[in-house]
Amino acid sequence: MTDTSLFELVELSRALARPEMDCVILGEGNTSAIADVNTFWVKASGNHLANIKPDGFVKVDMDAVLELLSGKPLNDQEIKEALTRVKVNADAAGHPSVETLLHAQLLSLDKIKFVGHTHPTAINMIACSKAFPDAFNGRLFPDEIVVCGVAPLLVSYTDPGIPLARYVGELLKEYLNKYGEAPRIVIMQNHGFIALGKTAQEVLDITAMAIKTARILMGTYIYGGPNFLSQKDVERIHTRPDEIYRQMKLGVKRE
Ligand SMILES: [Zn+2]
Repeated sequence: MTDTSLFELVELSRALARPEMDCVILGEGNTSAIADVNTFWVKASGNHLANIKPDGFVKVDMDAVLELLSGKPLNDQEIKEALTRVKVNADAAGHPSVETLLHAQLLSLDKIKFVGHTHPTAINMIACSKAFPDAFNGRLFPDEIVVCGVAPLLVSYTDPGIPLARYVGELLKEYLNKYGEAPRIVIMQNHGFIALGKTAQEVLDITAMAIKTARILMGTYIYGGPNFLSQKDVERIHTRPDEIYRQMKLGVKRE
């Protein structure tokens, strides 16, 4: 299983970095995948997703990473050293990305096995604008709901590392209470995007649909602004038998 998830993670990372996706350039973005019961793979700092190889990832201990989040506050140097200690194999090359803490929070969610964090230009045009968060507070069309879920998790700008991971952890609890399921997408103000999936393909599909949604959203501002679907229609689409069937066919059904 370990080798399979790493192979799929490499493929996913390269796919997210394809130029037509317009998601990342240079060393932007990071990806992760569950490896086995208590470990996961995460991108090692400094690697480019576009040409990443299996050795561009480092395997870390889930409990050890989560302990950092519940422990005492650490400064930048301490967190760097602590991330070295969460490696499963201390001698393995590569240093876990500072966003390893955030990936641990997301991979701890039920049914989430792959996470893709990118900086898509179309999404960041809105996430870096004065329209955040209002522009993301509604759904525009059925396929968006089928693939990206009923609502994104929206995160106001927070210092990356422990503060961001802790804040997202609090927001995840609120989201789970409100919607009864994990979010499929996270949009971080003045920063970027995260797709959460049970498969690598799902992360790629969610990212592609979220980018398409962002482009449509931008277009709506030329024609008077977004005409969001009503909450009733959103809930109906999310629970319609034919849309659930579509989710199953697309491989994005959660239950
Ligand atoms: Zn980022």
